[in-house]
Amino acid sequence: MAALLEAEGLTAGYGQTAVLHGIDFAVEERGVSALLGANGAGKTTTLRAVSGMVRTGGALRLAGDRIDGLATEEIARRGVAHVPDGRGTFMELTVEENMRLGAYTRRDKAGVEADFERVFGYFPRLKQRFKQQAGTLSGGEQQMLAISRALVLRPRLLLLDEPSFGLAPLVVQEIFSIMRRIREEQGVSILLVEQNASLALDFADRAYLLETGRIVVSGPAADIRQDESIRRSYLGY
Ligand code: ATP
Repeated sequence: MAALLEAEGLTAGYGQTAVLHGIDFAVEERGVSALLGANGAGKTTTLRAVSGMVRTGGALRLAGDRIDGLATEEIARRGVAHVPDGRGTFMELTVEENMRLGAYTRRDKAGVEADFERVFGYFPRLKQRFKQQAGTLSGGEQQMLAISRALVLRPRLLLLDEPSFGLAPLVVQEIFSIMRRIREEQGVSILLVEQNASLALDFADRAYLLETGRIVVSGPAADIRQDESIRRSYLGY
């Protein structure tokens, strides 16, 4: 299968600080790749690099075209939607206003309305809370809103930063099972950052283990899941 996203020798950092020291990874068309690793390994920075939010070196290709160095808006316009850590929800705005922000690059108003309905098919609770302030939502609902806002961009690639963060296990399960449906039905590819390695390895096709800005293990998620020494050395379970 062809890769939708390919990173080659990707470097990134903040000011004088280098965080990623030249990493290679890929997300297949309709595939899910997971980035695993301890706090500070550079997972969030990798997602920021893909969506153009930090200075990068090396090459990033989306469907064969270079996207490194492009502005964040242009990368979004090409179909990369970022669900950031902390979810990036505007708490004082309503659910509707937050979702409209997700569609800011879209000109086709009728298409946007249709996409709202499509997204409500996955997250019916958001429809009930459409006019409600985002700050009044539960943590799980806020994560659903963050994903919905990304989906109305009609992305080819979804960047998901720690969707399980701070949520109760049942809510996490609910969100991941909806993400499975979204992946199958919308044909979207996903680059997932997740602290919960076991959860991520169940969901992903491929996984990359980051340690201080370098990839130390990579391969099919199923192989990594079954490798006890990798699990013990790096994943702590
Ligand atoms: P976590 O799960 O804790 O977010 P992570 O693997 O996502 O970990 P990053 O957030 O990418 O790691 O951070 C990698 C390194 O970059 C860390 O050493 C961090 O301190 C540094 N860093 C992150 N954001 C900034 C920033 N805005 N300015 C300077 N350094 C930063």
